[in-house]
Amino acid sequence: MKYVKCHECGGDVEIWSDEDSGFCLDCNAEWAKPDKDVSCLDYCEYADTCREIIEAKKPVG
Ligand SMILES: [Zn+2]
Repeated sequence: MKYVKCHECGGDVEIWSDEDSGFCLDCNAEWAKPDKDVSCLDYCEYADTCREIIEAKKPVG
């Protein structure tokens, strides 16, 4: 089972490993399980910030 952040309320969404989607514990919004082959950068609202951090942490050279 994994938790993802609810995009609606920021709460925890429980998604069981054998399920394709789960429901937010707080607002009951349904969320599809992110494809494990897809980077979180593809759906995260903070992806742009993350990319900047990743770029900043890359070794120079
Ligand atoms: Zn929610």
